[in-house]
Amino acid sequence: MDKNGGPVQNYDFFLVLDFEATCESSVRISPQEVIEFPCLKVNAKTFKIESEFHHYVRPVHHPTLTSFCTELTGIIQETVDESEPFPAVLARFEAWHAAELPADSRALFLTYGDWDLKTMLPNQCRLSGVPLPPFMRSWGNVKHLCADVRGSWPRGMDRLMKELGLPLIGRHHSGIDDCRNIARIVELMCRRGAVVSETGSLGSESGARNH
Ligand code: AMP
Ligand code: MG
Repeated sequence: MDKNGGPVQNYDFFLVLDFEATCESSVRISPQEVIEFPCLKVNAKTFKIESEFHHYVRPVHHPTLTSFCTELTGIIQETVDESEPFPAVLARFEAWHAAELPADSRALFLTYGDWDLKTMLPNQCRLSGVPLPPFMRSWGNVKHLCADVRGSWPRGMDRLMKELGLPLIGRHHSGIDDCRNIARIVELMCRRGAVVSETGSLGSESGARNH
């Protein structure tokens, strides 16, 4: 038992990440591109947010956001127009990661679902022609934590938060607000006894395709 009331975790930090991407209501935009890149460094003992990375990203294949996308995410055209394209933002993220995480620290990315690091990041890196950072090849899916504690697989994050009695911070589908809400879900699940573990990773063959 940790002195904060939950089990001892096998990590020093959780990196809570939640991409937003170009989208349309009834059709799948192809290629889909990241437009918001937020990540919170959460202390795995105290659950305090110790550092925040947050940049918007300018899409290059479909530079004009749909009104559906703006309504869903709250991200407006001027914001992405003024932002850097993905390779520059990823380079900033790698620098933040190197500065924030000592080489011997144990950190795990946490996402709500598998899409962010299994699908979106490899696709975006391939599209942008940049190597996928090796430290972004594995993650924990927070839905597993919820299923372990509650005995049922959760659906939408907004519905889950209602069921947990957690007030939704900010706006659902804003990447940075989603991160803050995911961090609160993680904290609650851990205090209720969950032990965080890696649930997904990219195979070595997909690494070759992704540089
Ligand atoms: P989320 O993390 O749930 O906010 O979603 C990540 C991305 O998935 C969004 O930025 C959209 O590109 C896409 N997405 C989420 N919900 C929808 C939806 N209802 N219709 C179309 N795309 C969506
Ligand atoms: Mg989101």
